Amino acid sequence: MELSHRSKDFAKFMDKTEAVVRDLLCVPDNYRVLFMQGGGSGQFAAVPLNLISRTGKADYIVTGSWSSKAAKEAAKYGKVNYVVAKTERYTGVPDRSSWTFDPDASYVYYCANETIEGVEFHDVPEVPKGVPLVCDMSSNYFSKPVDVSKYGLIYGGAQKNIGCAGVTLVIIREDLLGKPQPICPTILDYTIMSKNKSLYNTPPSFAIHVLGEVLAWVKKEGGMAEMERRSVQKSKMIYTIIDNSSGFYSNNIQPRSRSYMNVVFRVGEGGGNEELEKKFLEKAAHQGLLSLKGHRSVGGIRASLYNAITIDDTQRLANFMKNFREENK
Ligand code: PMP
Repeated sequence: MELSHRSKDFAKFMDKTEAVVRDLLCVPDNYRVLFMQGGGSGQFAAVPLNLISRTGKADYIVTGSWSSKAAKEAAKYGKVNYVVAKTERYTGVPDRSSWTFDPDASYVYYCANETIEGVEFHDVPEVPKGVPLVCDMSSNYFSKPVDVSKYGLIYGGAQKNIGCAGVTLVIIREDLLGKPQPICPTILDYTIMSKNKSLYNTPPSFAIHVLGEVLAWVKKEGGMAEMERRSVQKSKMIYTIIDNSSGFYSNNIQPRSRSYMNVVFRVGEGGGNEELEKKFLEKAAHQGLLSLKGHRSVGGIRASLYNAITIDDTQRLANFMKNFREENK
């Protein structure tokens, strides 16, 4: 950790880490891989600051809290068109026939997996031809194969599926570089970051190291196809318990948009009982089943089934849920 980031050894370490990213996601040669800071929230600003100047406008497909935040941030730097009707409660990806695009948008933005509500896109959204597609993959990065060539830009913080907080992995098509707004802060400027091979300033070296180790493990385990197979299996185990609980557990997300990563549900007949949910969390904690509390904005329970959670871990949760229902229904 004390190596100078200007040293040859450090350059080798960066190259090795980039190579595993490229290998796992089959990143085409005309894309740059950037290791940035500022988390997903930093990218909410970086995306418009770097990409909106072509027309001053952008399309946002808002399907949950994180894409909503991104759209609000982008509105500071240009005009934002909401592709789907605004809503307070997010329950899935609205039907494609209801989407309205701005033909002049510089890019179309969406969030592949809404971590708080548990809403995931299981296909790449169809958008007007020639308009770059931008995607926040913070909570399902490296959980399944991705056709990078369909995107102008992909980004995600590392702290869920690919390591620890501190590094944000950006993959950008080369032709989108070179057009930042003049006010773009230097450390959020993709063009400067790319020219400097992510070493414009001191990089978060430990977080990059962990990312490299995690991705090497993912590759050893079987890569993207295997991570997807496990994610489908794990989430199905929990959704099955919910769906077979006669309303004791409930998930209000439209079935085709249910997340494989974050299974969000309420405990108690009639859509949730806070006392029972408290008891659920306490009993689960006694069995070593931790971090199951839903985001404060939606309440309830959230089982996050990131790559590090095994099928056995998930089975333990499923068994616990079955027993808890028997004891409390
Ligand atoms: N996007 C998504 C999908 C997220 O889940 C999060 C954080 N949980 C963010 C963006 C914000 O990331 P950060 O906390 O790194 O700013």
